[in-house]
Amino acid sequence: MRISISVTLILLLTACKTTNNIVDKPIVFNEERKILTLEYLSKRYGLEKDTPEIEPKMIVLHWTVIPTLEKSFEAFNNPSLPNWRPDIKNVSGLNVSSQFMVDRDGTIYRLMPETTMARHVIGLNHCAIGVENVGGDTGQPLTKAQLKSNIWLVRYLAEKYDIDYLIGHYEYTLFEGHPLWLEKDKGYRTKKTDPGEDFMRKVRKEVKDLNFKALPE
Ligand SMILES: [Zn+2]
Repeated sequence: MRISISVTLILLLTACKTTNNIVDKPIVFNEERKILTLEYLSKRYGLEKDTPEIEPKMIVLHWTVIPTLEKSFEAFNNPSLPNWRPDIKNVSGLNVSSQFMVDRDGTIYRLMPETTMARHVIGLNHCAIGVENVGGDTGQPLTKAQLKSNIWLVRYLAEKYDIDYLIGHYEYTLFEGHPLWLEKDKGYRTKKTDPGEDFMRKVRKEVKDLNFKALPE
């Protein structure tokens, strides 16, 4: 009897153990997206490149507010900005995206190669890897599973690349004037609150040992 209980317990523990595999779920990255990305790098940052490669120095955490993975994916999939975001169309036709997206259940999806530029943070896309979390905001707070996966992903990326900074999207304007900040248009800013101060505090607490640099004052 006791043996069977132990065996059951071991089986349960094994089943519950979180294995954070990254699932590749690529958005469209065709010639059009490549051209728009190179144009973005040139016009916004003055970087003339042959490939849309970035040198990762920063991880930026986000939330999509969009409640499902499918709808969030759809929002990023098209290479050019759809009509429902005409507010930023005059800046560049490149659609927004991110390298990673974390579903409500914690599943990590890789939407693009890790070192290909995604449009997710003004001023810093040339050096920033973006992690979007499905949902968020007051209507659908980020889940514990998402928190765990973000922590895992930050560790995975910090091990692989020379990452100096971990920031929440709402903190990006602190980098104005920093050497990494390349946006040329002083009027091009959006106010952000994602992924929430509470979420950032929790992630930072768990990755303290990685010793990221302090944010600019
Ligand atoms: Zn964001």
